Amino acid sequence: MKTSQEKIKEYLKKRAWDKNEPVDLAKSIIIEGAELLELFQWGNKNRKQVMSDKEFIKNLRGELADVFIYSYCMAISLGLDADELIQEKLNFVEKKYPPRVMSREDHLKIKKKFREKNK
Ligand SMILES: [Mg+2]
Repeated sequence: MKTSQEKIKEYLKKRAWDKNEPVDLAKSIIIEGAELLELFQWGNKNRKQVMSDKEFIKNLRGELADVFIYSYCMAISLGLDADELIQEKLNFVEKKYPPRVMSREDHLKIKKKFREKNK
């Protein structure tokens, strides 16, 4: 079975859309992220309300998929393996945020300390 990255790569190649510039793809990721955020404009739905609103979820799925797809396009354009990037980042944040129960205050303290250490 093909991975999402392989399917998107094929899709782009068939349409000769596989040579997009990274700056255009970065803009597209943010634009699609804004479309996702726009769904929440003038509202204040919490997670439970979002999950119970079928029309909202339908629209959210579409915009979230757009963000993912453009992110894959960026990886493809630069010859990067998206899964490898995700694994690397997960390994990094695993160390940054050790798996234990933390309060929000603990989390913010650790984050601040980490940033000061890595300036
Ligand atoms: Mg969109």
